[in-house]
Amino acid sequence: MTSMPRFVVTIDGAAGTGKTSVAQELARRLGTDCLDTGAMYRAIAVLSVDQGIAPDDGVALAKLIQELGIRFDWNHEPASILLGGVDVSSRIRDLDVSGVVSIVAKQPEVRKVLVEQQRRIGEEHPLLVTEGRDQGSIVFPDAEVRFFLEAKMDERTKRRVKQLRESGKNVENSQVLQDISERDKIDSTRTDGPLTCPEGAIVIDTSDKTMMEVVDSMEQSVRTALPT
Ligand code: C5P
Repeated sequence: MTSMPRFVVTIDGAAGTGKTSVAQELARRLGTDCLDTGAMYRAIAVLSVDQGIAPDDGVALAKLIQELGIRFDWNHEPASILLGGVDVSSRIRDLDVSGVVSIVAKQPEVRKVLVEQQRRIGEEHPLLVTEGRDQGSIVFPDAEVRFFLEAKMDERTKRRVKQLRESGKNVENSQVLQDISERDKIDSTRTDGPLTCPEGAIVIDTSDKTMMEVVDSMEQSVRTALPT
């Protein structure tokens, strides 16, 4: 992979728009890694909940992340996330973690550390698919292909409930609807790296499309832009 020039594909959008699934499938088809930046913010939220650090104490959280280290194990598919060497992949989607993640992600000190790490991961990958809220707008504004996913609220809720139940978490529709509505509000109104449609992004409404239909059209756009 080292001889290729760097090529970044960004996928941004709100919770439940299908970002994570399509990003993983697109990366698999392109034979590269998928960076789930939400997993990084969630890992810090785990720190906040489990170590009793206030989610708005950005200074303390940023310091602790630098001490402990946060990294991905790319040998797993999807990549697992490790905090201080401990795999927290199955903990990060719990509802108590989701409940504070947007407060954690609002802290400029936390964003600064993670944005730097995401750019470093970009440097280490000649070809990277990355997904989040600010990937095409802030982290990789010069990305070769940028996507922005949208979906209707009831569809987003349904998908998230299905995903959580499939992973063995017992959740109610109303809890999930409340979680994603609250996160939408905080994520799109914060001053640092808000959820926004990046300039020049290809916008896809995934409400009435299957995951494979979405990935097919994305793959076509990426292959057209890839150097031959
Ligand atoms: O993508 P996911 O829903 O797992 O993200 C969890 C939370 O992490 C989001 O609600 C948002 O607060 C934060 N996040 C962010 N910037 C990113 C990715 C996620 O602020 N690039």
